Amino acid sequence: MNKSEAPVESDTIVVTNGFSEHKELILSFLALFLPASLLLASIFYAFSTQTEKYELQTTLIREESALNSASELTSLLFEQKLSDLLVLAEGEILRNYIHDPNLKNWIRTAREFSLFARRKPKYFQIRYLDNTGMEVIRINSADNVQEIVPQSEMQDKGNRYYFKEAIKLDVGEIYISPLDLNMERGEIEQPVKPTVRFATPVADGYGEKRGVVIINYTPNELLHRIADIFKSLRGDAVMLNSEGFWLHGVPDEQLWGFMYGNDETFAKQKPDVWSAVNNSDKGSFITNDGVYIFKKAYPLVRQRLGTLENVDETIVPSPNRAQKRYWIYLSHISNNLIADLTAKRMIVATVTYLLLFLVTGVISVLFAKNSVQKKVAFRKLQQYATTDDLTGLANRRELDKVALREFKRATRFSRHLSVLMMDLDHFKAVNDSYGHNVGDRVLRHVADICVAAIRGQDFLARYGGEEFTILLPETEIGSAALLAQRICDEIAAKPYRDGTQPISITISIGISEVEDNDDDVHNLLYRADKALYEAKKRGRNRVVILSKDNFLSHLAMVNE
Ligand code: GH3
Ligand code: MG
Ligand code: MG
Repeated sequence: MNKSEAPVESDTIVVTNGFSEHKELILSFLALFLPASLLLASIFYAFSTQTEKYELQTTLIREESALNSASELTSLLFEQKLSDLLVLAEGEILRNYIHDPNLKNWIRTAREFSLFARRKPKYFQIRYLDNTGMEVIRINSADNVQEIVPQSEMQDKGNRYYFKEAIKLDVGEIYISPLDLNMERGEIEQPVKPTVRFATPVADGYGEKRGVVIINYTPNELLHRIADIFKSLRGDAVMLNSEGFWLHGVPDEQLWGFMYGNDETFAKQKPDVWSAVNNSDKGSFITNDGVYIFKKAYPLVRQRLGTLENVDETIVPSPNRAQKRYWIYLSHISNNLIADLTAKRMIVATVTYLLLFLVTGVISVLFAKNSVQKKVAFRKLQQYATTDDLTGLANRRELDKVALREFKRATRFSRHLSVLMMDLDHFKAVNDSYGHNVGDRVLRHVADICVAAIRGQDFLARYGGEEFTILLPETEIGSAALLAQRICDEIAAKPYRDGTQPISITISIGISEVEDNDDDVHNLLYRADKALYEAKKRGRNRVVILSKDNFLSHLAMVNE
């Protein structure tokens, strides 16, 4: 029940029933913004925790594929050399020389080797050594000039590792030396000349091993291409030999350590990394100082199948992975680099997040405003429908609704319900004397007095014109009469003051109460109206009760 309805004074701030547009706006905003920003924050959190993993994974994939290319390139380039070697070793001319090692045959073989060297400028030495390791034919090739070395200048290579290894092999097998630096007469040739030697035994017509053909090859082409691949890597990459010496990817003074008797190796510098690398052909692992990715390159071997007449040769990967000779391509991505890569992504993510956060905020404000505006409009509409503009009291429509509700409640539960019908006396005269505006203010003045007089559960409404109605639930007619009298007295005692002179006013009040045989709320209102009419008739400024049973005989004039 409304004791009073505050007049509508402001368009926006306080509307009614404690409805605060401000509060409503903040609540609507939070209802939208909190879930949205929470969702955003969790997406951002998930993203940020995944970023490092993602960055690491994509980097790993890139590094692995680059290292694979390096490894495949190595095998491929070496494989081409194997065929060249066999062409020389199995040639008819060399075989003739072995059978009949006269000068003529020597010259023919030497010229054949020399021609071959001219076609293959990467081979800077082609030699045939006899089965003691003594050089027999030797072609030096440099800057596209081929030199057949005279027999008098032949050197004994019987003690060189490549000879010893090659002479042990079966015919058709090929020895591939470590990648090292070329030596001339016991000295490392300067500038350094990276060298790989391919060697294969040579047999005579009886299948007897008679010597070894050796090609010295400078894999500069390979090293340049490896350098290019290394440049494309994110990490610091090195090429190592199977002993852990650096062949590429570090400053010159660290390269080729084994050639200079230097025992500083990667294997010694990073034993834990080295042992992890040794365990498999490729892989990646994480250590305290970052991530390592590696891939080994094995030279391919040539497998001979079939008979001598019908030889079927295939190139296959090394059948023996325990093969001692391999190269390692290894890339190291430091923790700092990973952090850098992650940080870049995180900055982009954070900026995006902040922007989205702002946008969410703005959208939430707009939505909240819109929603509150709708609510305000709805409430205003509701208020217009139920409230009287002039006094801020409930209007006639609202009175009818509440009266019916209270009437039903009172009859169903046999409760008291009284009603006061009030009408200002000679109000027309007030309007006539002071004008309509003053009349309006007087109406508000009367409304205020009534509002102050009633209790919380009482319901005061403007019935129309200068008439007011008060519903008094849980009030029997005697108490209602006391309240009516108080209001009547108070209005009479408090003239309206409008700056100039006081305007005295009085009011007449008719009272009735719900009766047992009432079946319609209008009975109640009708009786109150009758009582009011009687009050007017009896001289105004008074209260008339129309109590139970009989209308005419039970009129009581309270203030007579
Ligand atoms: P009575 O004592 O018999 O009730 O006399 P009265 O002059 O009050 O009665 P009447 O019904 O003849 O006149 C009612 C007047 O109330 C007429 C009308 O101008 C005035 N009135 C009705 N509503 C308003 C209003 O909203 N504002 C103002 N200023 N006057 C109003
Ligand atoms: Mg009237
Ligand atoms: Mg009147």
